[in-house]
Amino acid sequence: MASPVAAHAGKLLRDLALRPAFLSARSQAVQLTSRRWLNLQEYQSKKLMSDNGVRVQRFFVADTADEALEAAKRLNAKEIVLKAQILAGGRGKGVFNSGLKGGVHLTKDPNVVGQLAKQMIGYNLATKQTPKEGVKVNKVMVAEALDISRETYLAILMDRSCNGPVLVGSPQGGVDIEEVAASNPELIFKEQIDIFEGIKDSQAQRMAENLGFLGPLKNQAADQIKKLYNLFLKVDATQVEVNPFGETPEGQVVCFDAKINFDDNAEFRQKDIFAMDDKSENEPIENEAARYDLKYIGLDGNIACFVNGAGLAMATCDIIFLNGGKPANFLDLGGGVKEAQVYQAFKLLTADPKVEAILVNIFGGIVNCAIIANGITKACRELELKVPLVVRLEVTVIEQGRCMDLRQETENSNGNLTGLEHVTDQNVNKYATGVFFFFFLCS
Ligand code: GDP
Ligand code: MN
Repeated sequence: MASPVAAHAGKLLRDLALRPAFLSARSQAVQLTSRRWLNLQEYQSKKLMSDNGVRVQRFFVADTADEALEAAKRLNAKEIVLKAQILAGGRGKGVFNSGLKGGVHLTKDPNVVGQLAKQMIGYNLATKQTPKEGVKVNKVMVAEALDISRETYLAILMDRSCNGPVLVGSPQGGVDIEEVAASNPELIFKEQIDIFEGIKDSQAQRMAENLGFLGPLKNQAADQIKKLYNLFLKVDATQVEVNPFGETPEGQVVCFDAKINFDDNAEFRQKDIFAMDDKSENEPIENEAARYDLKYIGLDGNIACFVNGAGLAMATCDIIFLNGGKPANFLDLGGGVKEAQVYQAFKLLTADPKVEAILVNIFGGIVNCAIIANGITKACRELELKVPLVVRLEVTVIEQGRCMDLRQETENSNGNLTGLEHVTDQNVNKYATGVFFFFFLCS
């Protein structure tokens, strides 16, 4: 029944809730505008790996070209690899707004490292996974380059369809793994891991073999896979991705790249890791929302959605799409809401110039509707709301929530409309002259 557009909106949000979405399709739009799960820079992930017995190259980090040059000299390596540090993949094929092509460069000359770093640091690097304008590079990694004789792909994901961790690997690594999954699905191998039993030797060995590691390399790769799995558990990761998980001509298995995402729910017991969070790549509005314990997701329409819970957010966006509208964003209040948060939420929503109307859709299970109503009233009064507002509050303390306070604030109060089908651009525009509330009883 759902229109393709509505299905798309739902997908965006589901991908968000289910990330990492490698096993399904990846959603570019959500990736560009939002971040789910803490993500660290490659150098931070590699430090965790090397502290836990996983093999990575020797490296230094630099935030100026001079430091990069110094680091290259200090490495005293046969060859050096210089890598721009941003929280997105595809850097190798990326382009800087300085004109430099490639966020990953190999050279034997430390002076070249200095020259290249000058064209990286302070400039934006655009890759397939960044917004069009790219992401500003503040740091570079200067590492000892190793020859690679074979590139494979390895990831460990917390996957809902497997009810736990799953190892995903492919002998065809180094490239965009989604393309391999689409063109050669038989080259993607999976091992479901029982989180209580842990990874079995036989599973690690089988994956090593499927990745094409032969002879003594098979044991070495299996050992690295087990160490990566132990790290995954220890740091409460939702994803560890190594692409390429490579092999050198000297017979070493090395993690050449690293991406680790962490479960935000584990922040309380992973303090050291969360302290490394570099928020400079976030949208400022996301940081502001996070300060008040709100989740903000930017989308590209004109109707702001103010909801509680990811499921209701999906349904709300689907309904908006179904009625020919487009959500500008959604702001998830979550549970245990305080009045001040509602006020802050409104402040954030109204600060977005794209927003032409606000839809509040709150199902009061844990949330108390009276608190929401008071928060909205205060926000309307103090922020001098200029755009039309449509409110649906339901369930807990609904009578108080609907009480005079709200009604008194509204000039065009109209309780006659019921049903979310009224939430269309047309209706919203019709009431654009005043603040308008309606309540919908879902019984
Ligand atoms: P990504 O493009 O953001 O995924 O960055 P990667 O760290 O994966 O680097 C991109 C590509 O550069 C890899 O797939 C490798 O082919 C190559 N590369 C990275 N590090 C080295 C290295 O130490 N030696 C060699 N020979 N190639 C490397
Ligand atoms: Mn990579």
